[in-house]
Amino acid sequence: MKNRILVIEDNLVNLELVTDLLEANHFIVSQAQTAEEGLRLAREINPDLILMDLSLPGMDGLAATKTLRADPATSHLPIIALTAHAMRGDENLALAAGCDAYLSKPIDTRSLPGKVAAIVLDARDRLPRPVTASNPAPPPADPPELYEN
Ligand code: MN
Repeated sequence: MKNRILVIEDNLVNLELVTDLLEANHFIVSQAQTAEEGLRLAREINPDLILMDLSLPGMDGLAATKTLRADPATSHLPIIALTAHAMRGDENLALAAGCDAYLSKPIDTRSLPGKVAAIVLDARDRLPRPVTASNPAPPPADPPELYEN
């Protein structure tokens, strides 16, 4: 499992904080400082999750999220929005645009790694898994009992 996280954030202090935090928790981090670079990297590296700042120069995080959701190559990627605490309503906009969750800034360094890990695992559970020797197909379910009444 690679657990690669793509962080799209134009604020370098936040970008480095989030990167350090994730790397300390054994994630592999790719960085982008613009939505355009983030979209390119998302297609290229197929990350396990994207942390998306909503306020970006040029294309913003909401538009970038909608672009990812509209592209079959990236539509499945879990996205957590990073929202500015002062911007009330951003959370709902983020969810409406297709984000799976949001974290408000300033970043809570204690809860971020766990939240990222939980969403990565949840998304993995939703993917169909190939049937292999170590992951056999489940036995067929018993047929439902029929009751006469
Ligand atoms: Mn920003």
